[in-house]
Order: sequence, then structure tokens, then C-alpha cells
Amino acid sequence: MRLPDLTSRLHALGAGPTHVQRVLRHWAQAHPHDRGAHAPEHFYPKPLLEALPALREELAGLARLQASHPGEDGSARLLVRLGDGQMVESVLLPAGPKGGGVCVSTQVGCAVGCRFCMTGQGGLVRQLGSAEIVAQVALARQQRPGLKGVRRVVFMGMGEPAHNLDEVMDAIELLGTAGNIGHKELVFSTVGDLRVFERLPQGRVKPALALSLHTTRPALRAELLPRAPALAPAELVRLAEDYARATQYPIQYQWTLLEGVNDGDDELEGIAELLAGKYAMMNLIPFNSVEGSGFRRPSWERAAEMARWLNQRGVLTRLRRSAGQDVDAGCGQLRARAERPERP
Ligand code: SF4
Repeated sequence: MRLPDLTSRLHALGAGPTHVQRVLRHWAQAHPHDRGAHAPEHFYPKPLLEALPALREELAGLARLQASHPGEDGSARLLVRLGDGQMVESVLLPAGPKGGGVCVSTQVGCAVGCRFCMTGQGGLVRQLGSAEIVAQVALARQQRPGLKGVRRVVFMGMGEPAHNLDEVMDAIELLGTAGNIGHKELVFSTVGDLRVFERLPQGRVKPALALSLHTTRPALRAELLPRAPALAPAELVRLAEDYARATQYPIQYQWTLLEGVNDGDDELEGIAELLAGKYAMMNLIPFNSVEGSGFRRPSWERAAEMARWLNQRGVLTRLRRSAGQDVDAGCGQLRARAERPERP
């Protein structure tokens, strides 16, 4: 389901703009805390009032919880069943001082084909509709009720948001308005695509941007991310920096650390050259081992040394574990396991 179709259906049931907003708030916030979402429903037009229970059931059916895998770090990997039976993954992120968050999927599968990613190995199955993306947030809020339960939404689950741009932008607009999520708490994650740099600045709700860099070497990037747009890392950083300066949100650069591939001193020099003085945060994320991938993560000591070196060279850097590593549930691993039952 697409959000414009949902809005049209509400209008057809006699809903005016205020009614539409209330229905959307109630859905996207799951346990609404803003008073507008609690306005008495008996003021709704009769056809809308009568249709609401079935409509709410239909919206709940867009994303149902199939399984939850809690991690030791306070995260939980959710296996989510869509209305047609397809599965995607969402991740409840560990709660920080400002509250919790959720990482949502934007596609079933992914066409970029990153060599180290389980989702990328199966290719694209289908796009998610904007309502299915919002439904993952509503589901996460049911799991983590409360004002601070889900204050941040990152579009970093299965799929490349740039390949489903219209739907993702519709979902962002709804979450940043009726969904009551702060605009910089919405994080659009991409491998880098010219359409993203054209489109994001035009949105009514401008999200923060996370850019998966992984290497400073164009040839290695083409190898690791075989179907990402052929934009050189330096060009990506230039485009991202323009967006960061326009929005006043720093760019979150993502770097999956692969031992012997992109953890060398040459890459450190390359990062320092590209990012020193930029409005940016570098996140080094040791690879979450996938059986048979042929990649390994470097030692924690090496990763920490890299982070220290970059910070000393003026690149604000954090070393992060990907949420839920202890439940062996990296991007796409839960779905792969659900489709291929584990051996006893
Ligand atoms: Fe797609 Fe992201 Fe996996 Fe790359 S890492 S294949 S962009 S889901």
C-alpha cells in the first residue's frame, strides 16, 4: 500500500484534512502522546467511523511480527512478515539518552549486491510501499511503547533506499509530521546516488544522511559494491558535504571493516585526506561474520587503533558494533535463516 492511496481512501470515506491527519497520527505513533491523535472519533464522518476498525486491521497486517531476537546490547532483531508473506528485518536499536530507535527495511532484497552483505546476494525481490515502511515503525512502537520508545528511524535495513526513492520520501514525510519524529532523527542511508542528492534537499522533511563509503579507492569500491553508481568517493564526499552544510546535520559515513581489505594504513590516509575538516562523523563497523562470505572482521584492537588515529587526524570517528551481533543477525541473516531452516 502506498500512502497517497491510503489518503485517497480516507477522503473517499468522507475524511477532511484534519481527520486524515488524526488517523495517520494514531497509526504511525502507535501509542500516541500528542493530543491531536486522541481527538474524539465520534466527530468523524459516519462512513469513516464505520470503516476504521477494518482499516486499522488492514494497516496492522502490513507488517506483523514473525519473530524477535533480543541482543545483549539492548537491541532486538525483528523478523517482519509483510501482507503477501514476504519477510524483511527491522532492528530495535538500543535506547540512548534521547530514547530508542528503529532501523527499517525499504525493499525485499537489494539490487546493489554488496559482496559482504547477505541481502545483496539474493538480488531484489520487490519494493516496499511507503505504508509498509511506516508500518514497521508502528510495529516497533508497539514493541517499545512510551514517549521515548522510538525517537529515531534509520533507513538502513534491507534494501537501498535510493532505489525506492518515491516511497521512502513519502514515508519520511509522514514520519516527520504525523509520526512525530524529529527531522534529523530520520536517517536516510545510501551507497550514494545522484538522485538522492537532487531529491533530499527538495523534501518538506529533510532527513539526515548516512553514506556507505567502505573504501577510498574507486576500483575497490566497484568490486565491493558492484552495482552501486560509479561515483568516485571524492565526488560522493563533495555532494554529501553540500547537503550537510545546507541542512546543518553532519553526514554519517559508514565503513564496514573487512580484514585485509579496507583496514590498511593506506585507507586511513585516504580517509583523512577526504574527511578532515568536513562536517562528518565516521562510523567504523567491524564486519558481522557471514558464513561462506570469505570476509572477516579485523581484531577489535586494530579497529580501535584506526579510530584513534583518525580522531587524532581531525576526523571525528566512532567504533561501533552493528546492533544485535551476538544473535548473529546481520543485515539479511534472519530472513535468510527463516527461508532456509537451520540444521538441528
Ligand atoms: Fe543492499 Fe545495503 Fe546489502 Fe549493500 S549492504 S547489498 S546496499 S542492503
